[in-house]
Amino acid sequence: MEITLREDLSPDPDFYYRQQFKIYHEPYLIWDKETWEAVIAACDVYRIEIDGRYGGDVLLEDRGKGMKYIVDFSILPEYQGKGIGKAVLEQIKAMSEKLTAVTRRATLDFFLKSGFVLKRTVKNYYHAGVAGYDMTFEKRPSQGSPAEGKGQSPAQREMMTLRKRMAKALEKEGLDLREISKLFGVREGEALEHLKHIARSAHPKRLTVEPASCKHCGFSFKKRTRLNSPGRCPVCKGEHISPPRFKIDNS
Ligand SMILES: [Zn+2]
Repeated sequence: MEITLREDLSPDPDFYYRQQFKIYHEPYLIWDKETWEAVIAACDVYRIEIDGRYGGDVLLEDRGKGMKYIVDFSILPEYQGKGIGKAVLEQIKAMSEKLTAVTRRATLDFFLKSGFVLKRTVKNYYHAGVAGYDMTFEKRPSQGSPAEGKGQSPAQREMMTLRKRMAKALEKEGLDLREISKLFGVREGEALEHLKHIARSAHPKRLTVEPASCKHCGFSFKKRTRLNSPGRCPVCKGEHISPPRFKIDNS
């Protein structure tokens, strides 16, 4: 059995709306079509595929600072009880630094066994008398990056060293991609890849991004989550943009 979590880049709200009736029964949340449309627009949508066939979905909402909220995690009834949920949850954990979710009593143990910690119980969360359990999962620093030293090729070790040197430099001062590229003799695209790894392993320190801004009108690209530089200002259409600057926070 091959279990894949595949990002659905153009999710069809109708499709996911219909699937939920196979999965959920009162008194649990049955969302109407409008809710699905709004949720799908706000979330990253993943299809759970079992040997290539649709078997459920995972919806993740970015809460910032590496935190992702599991908005929905569903498996079609015919695929339940086969260890698929556990395998999928491991994949979700592998791609996130921190997770948060609310679940019901019946599935609470499933999450707790997997390393989630119960934060609080929310009375009448789903329905009168049906509580929700608010949980979080956080990667320990040792899980953030591949084990150092053991079992790595010289090339991998060299890359780790390069990333460490970059991280050191970023602790001292904020740098943009071009500066990082020059300092370390790598292309900007490569620098970006290294930064993504550093962002995941900088925990408990934090890689912060000072957003790009327009040199002409000062517009700040605060909402932009991509790390590369935008081409043009949406306000004044100016093309002189100060690129985002990266820094590692010691606090
Ligand atoms: Zn502007």
